[in-house]
Amino acid sequence: MTEIPTTMTVDVAIVGSGFAGLGAAARLVQEHRPDFVVLEKGATLGGTWRDNTYPGCACDVPSHLYSFSFAPNPNWTRLFARQPEIRAYLEQLADRFDLRSRIRFGATVTGAEWDGTRWVVQLADGTIVNARAVVWGTGALHEPSVPEIEGLDAFTGTAFHSAQWDHGHDLRGKRVAVIGTGASAIQFVPQIQPGAASLTLFQRTPPWVLPKPDRPIPAPLRALYRLLPMAQRVARSVIYARNELLVSGFLHPRRMRVVERFARLYLDRTFAGRPDLKAKVTPDFTIGCKRILMSNDYYAALKSPNVEVVTDRIARITATGVVTADGVEHPVDTIIFGTGFRIADSLGRLTITGRDGVKLNDVWRAGPEAFLGTTVAGFPNLFLLAGPNTGLGHSSMIFMIESQVNYVLDALRVLDVSGARAIDTRPERQARFNAELQGRLDGSVWSQGGCASWYLDENGRNHTLWPGYTFDFRRRTRAVDPADHELVG
Ligand code: NAP
Repeated sequence: MTEIPTTMTVDVAIVGSGFAGLGAAARLVQEHRPDFVVLEKGATLGGTWRDNTYPGCACDVPSHLYSFSFAPNPNWTRLFARQPEIRAYLEQLADRFDLRSRIRFGATVTGAEWDGTRWVVQLADGTIVNARAVVWGTGALHEPSVPEIEGLDAFTGTAFHSAQWDHGHDLRGKRVAVIGTGASAIQFVPQIQPGAASLTLFQRTPPWVLPKPDRPIPAPLRALYRLLPMAQRVARSVIYARNELLVSGFLHPRRMRVVERFARLYLDRTFAGRPDLKAKVTPDFTIGCKRILMSNDYYAALKSPNVEVVTDRIARITATGVVTADGVEHPVDTIIFGTGFRIADSLGRLTITGRDGVKLNDVWRAGPEAFLGTTVAGFPNLFLLAGPNTGLGHSSMIFMIESQVNYVLDALRVLDVSGARAIDTRPERQARFNAELQGRLDGSVWSQGGCASWYLDENGRNHTLWPGYTFDFRRRTRAVDPADHELVG
């Protein structure tokens, strides 16, 4: 293992080695900026695609689009790649751009402070990394959320979260409880249901589910992509354009009726003869308000004789089961939490100190806000990837990350050309940008669709999603507009 020096100085410190961190690192290499380090808290790279190994884990965005445009992979074996293949893609990216020697594994960032000229990044082992710029690529979905349910500590069976799958625990023949019916649960439920003695699915809110147009990519087509990269670029463009069609529906919820009609037809067809179950799994909010899920086997699994969908609220957990509000105890051997991630805490527990001692926690007390999801006024040379309001309900986050990395690279160029020490966003520009975003979000399906989702904070404000076309985000992040920022020093 490489020895970590107690102090190191680099031009750019990148935090995290998932898609965002590796993408930024690869582009720095491409731009002949080799003076950077990637700080990774884990022992291997891959971010969410390293952590999530649950059965059936796959992407719900086609891989031609869920990959970097500058590093296409002609060898995807399926339209919607599964986790091992996506993780392998990231490993290959690290090799292709010679990134491994620049990653410091086991490097947990505990805080960062702008000292007036540079960032001083503190690691848990006492190491200090001095950097002109910091690129924060930790994403929002890496801290598993396990609800505080009374009695959970006293449960004598096995319990784990979907992002910390216990592969040593054999589920065959077990009575399994699954809590949650989100993007992860609908993928692993069909995988574990056949072997389980029983599967009790605790559903708080039924999601909208559409069929997944997944299929293998035949070997001759893969060969064509290898020979003629343009053919894969065309496939990528078609997927991209089709996905963008959904944006208008997100912003004008009435237009989502067409998609909802299609989802209802799918429910009608799948649950013909099972009106009780259909009623349980039919959502009562506008489609798109929560993430639209895609699966070809989730509903089929729910219809299996060993599955029960429980819609009563969970009251408590006992040593041997889950008790619902109606007083019924559901005896189980295993509890799997498909309950998502702690979004609000992602950056919140670190101390990030900007100009004049201002803390990011304090600035974000009313909710995280940034300029173009990337920079925050008062925090010079700090760049957030997949930051506030860059999430998507319809397309690839990799496209957004790539756009943001373009912006970071242009900011570094501006610093070099101007000779300035730092670039800091003007607060009034950031405020104007966010007012515009929130104006668009107010009428969107996420606010008006009649659901509660992790996209919204406790005040109903959406600090999560980009309310528009992704090509608009790409256009806005193409180059740094000097009017939006102050050059310091
Ligand atoms: P999620 O979508 O946030 O779903 C969490 C589920 O747990 C929801 O059904 C939620 O119910 C339920 N839940 C949470 N707290 C609960 C409680 N105290 N009691 C009962 N139920 C509770 O989480 P996820 O499935 O892990 O997915 C998280 C995100 O990861 C997704 O939105 C997506 O962005 C990403 N993801 C993407 C893919 C992909 O293919 N690209 C795959 C997996 C995950 P409510 O709906 O009532 O809150």
